[in-house]
Amino acid sequence: MLYENLGINDQGHLTVGGLDTVQLAEEFGAPLYVLDEDRLRANCQTYVQSMAAWMPADSMPLFAGKALCFKGLYPVLKEEGMGADVVSPGEIYTALAGGFPAEKLYFHGNNKTDEDIAYALDSGVGCFIVDNHQELAALNRAAGVRGIRQRVLLRVTPGIDPHTLQAINTGRIDCQFGVPIETGQAARFAAAALTMEHLEIEGFHSHIGSQIFEAEPFCEAVDILLDFAASLRQEYGFVARTLNLGGGFGVRYQACDPVVDIPGTIRALADHLTRGCQDKDYPLPRILLEPGRSIVADAGLTLYRVGGVKTIEGYRSYVTVNGGMTDNPRYALYQSPYTVLPASRMMDTPDFDCTLAGRCCESGDLIQENISLPRPERDDLVAVLTTGAYNFTMASNYNRLCRPALVMIRQGNARLAVRRQTFEDLIACDL
Ligand SMILES: *Cc1c(COP(=O)(O)O)cnc(C)c1O
Repeated sequence: MLYENLGINDQGHLTVGGLDTVQLAEEFGAPLYVLDEDRLRANCQTYVQSMAAWMPADSMPLFAGKALCFKGLYPVLKEEGMGADVVSPGEIYTALAGGFPAEKLYFHGNNKTDEDIAYALDSGVGCFIVDNHQELAALNRAAGVRGIRQRVLLRVTPGIDPHTLQAINTGRIDCQFGVPIETGQAARFAAAALTMEHLEIEGFHSHIGSQIFEAEPFCEAVDILLDFAASLRQEYGFVARTLNLGGGFGVRYQACDPVVDIPGTIRALADHLTRGCQDKDYPLPRILLEPGRSIVADAGLTLYRVGGVKTIEGYRSYVTVNGGMTDNPRYALYQSPYTVLPASRMMDTPDFDCTLAGRCCESGDLIQENISLPRPERDDLVAVLTTGAYNFTMASNYNRLCRPALVMIRQGNARLAVRRQTFEDLIACDL
């Protein structure tokens, strides 16, 4: 099994967190998002404890809400001592509705509108991560009107290619997020920020990409950020109190993916930071990390019901399920790998080569190609693993399909955290 929270029971059914997936699908319907809260909490603790052990005081992991966002998640994050990244008023609203403290929210986004800025300021969001000059000016104005000084980090791009997918690679210079260091623009950005009366510049932020499996690219980012910070200290006397190194820790989607040693990586990163600061005689800044995927991905799986099997003679066989790109668009977007299991028939020999297809009217609606299952029959249950990140949040109502329910599992009990959409929900905004 890919993870230790998965198992097989006497009936040959896949279990997750000790619960039978076939029973979960019977009770809550399918397709169904299942989230193992115990595993999610353990993932949070890995970050919280490792950062407390190795990193400077007040360092903290911030959960990136774009990976997964619903009300019931936020009490869990709060209890586990996490901060949280938000990228829109909708995410802020959701976090606050879940009782999350506003001061532990970090507000991202490369186009915060004046309305977004007003909403976030009036909500008491702790810190803005400012992406560009226009936002800097707009935020300074809005903070001035309210008579406050807003804490901010400046988003810069260190120009690192962590050798991941182009489409999800954001640390390169040529991208729409942040301001590049290499061209000298980030220095001018920081200089402008330091003149802003109503902003308190706390430090810098960089996010170098996704699915990163080693400490090295993060260490490289630290080097570049420290050089940058040291040159600003020289020129303006400004000392950064915070460095936010973004998210991007990898997870295992398939057995061939490496296991990421998160505590080891955090320790290596902390050592690297300490040495770098000593070399430059720079006061140790606190560190923020923004894990999204590595907190929730492997805590989640999706259950589908098989509809049919179609063999195109001389080509391949398609197995269709009752969901698809509406609940998981990641294969259609960038051919993301997943592990697929025959949840209701785990003891049967997987000797049928096939492609798992969704039910949408779109030939690109595939969940995974080149997989093997026991020859499926209608109503078999199939599980797609590691869907806790970027599935629920990227879901749509294409073809007017209702979004699946989300069930959380804790200590052997399942509870509905997000109910399945109804047809009424589909027309709720239609006048
Ligand atoms: C996407 C993103 C994250 C989270 O990345 P993961 O790969 O899910 O850990 C964190 N910070 C920023 C700025 C992001 O854009």
